[in-house]
Amino acid sequence: MKPNDIEFELSELFEIRTTKYGGRACFARRDIPVDTDVLVLHRALGSIVCHEFRKEVCCVCFLYDNGRTMKVRLMEKCPKLAPKGAGLWFCSEKCRHDFLSRDRIESLIEAYELFETNWLSRASDRAGLEDCQTADPEHQISKTDIQRMWDGLEHSWVPMIDRMKLIRQRSQLPVLNEDEYGCVRFVAHCLFTLATANKSCVQMQAFRSLQSNELVKIQQYPILLKVQENVFKTLYVLLPPQLKPMLTSAIFRHILGSEYGNSFGIWESAECSESREYLGYCVLPEASYFNHSCAPNLAKRRQGERMIFTLNSPAQKDQELCIDYKGILGLPVKERRCILQENWFFDCGCERCLREMVEG
Ligand SMILES: [Zn+2]
Ligand SMILES: [Zn+2]
Repeated sequence: MKPNDIEFELSELFEIRTTKYGGRACFARRDIPVDTDVLVLHRALGSIVCHEFRKEVCCVCFLYDNGRTMKVRLMEKCPKLAPKGAGLWFCSEKCRHDFLSRDRIESLIEAYELFETNWLSRASDRAGLEDCQTADPEHQISKTDIQRMWDGLEHSWVPMIDRMKLIRQRSQLPVLNEDEYGCVRFVAHCLFTLATANKSCVQMQAFRSLQSNELVKIQQYPILLKVQENVFKTLYVLLPPQLKPMLTSAIFRHILGSEYGNSFGIWESAECSESREYLGYCVLPEASYFNHSCAPNLAKRRQGERMIFTLNSPAQKDQELCIDYKGILGLPVKERRCILQENWFFDCGCERCLREMVEG
């Protein structure tokens, strides 16, 4: 299937159509009254809690209790499988139970535990790690540069690793920084979902149809090419056998390429309060087809791990359904457009922007 084909149905309330600009958008199939929940998502494809908050946020319901460390750990329940707790913290017995009841969760726990063990054992190597800026600022990264990196990985690094014994493979692991470590866990979570979900479920179809922002994002942040290389190498060496077959360069690149510009922040509390903490992010492929508007007709709210999109004004048939990507509605038009361009690579053409630009 070509990535642009939309052949799945997300909801009986709205449909995804290709717009005249080549992007996709969601349009109401009929008149829908205000306060209707048009999309309720029960679980993300993948999520990650920021490193600084990982002990303070429940990895299941994302509860944050004013900086208090979450009390429930995995090793109390699975001392053999996860003696170090797999880098997971839970708010309650219920959340731990929810997590442990997921189909084939042992494979993800094993992966998390291996990552955590490796992370802890490399602390002294990390101390000497400098923030290296490998990219030449004069050189604009091209598709060919990205492909060259992947060819090198697949045609020389992978065969070299495959010839080694496990213990030597591990000596080849790159030293990760916190962001890379988070990314390793995030991709593993996505791979786990891909391995265990029903291939024809809506989330999987929505994921496969997402557009990739790989090139534009890497051109903006060239360091990401090195990050991707380090993350891929770590996953390749450490993923347990149940998950490793999922790790191909194509799937890996689609996960990160579509994550760029499509992830949803996990915030401490209600969408619009000012001093709330940014706890992490998740990828919700089904909700990634909503475009941004600076006067959106959808409000999104999180309820535990559920994300709910509700109409805040009545929608007429064929009206586009939009969300606010970043909580920027209170900012002046110039700042809003700047943030959208930097983070999502587009010039906002919403009615409010057009009006406010004319008003100057
Ligand atoms: Zn919880
Ligand atoms: Zn706008």
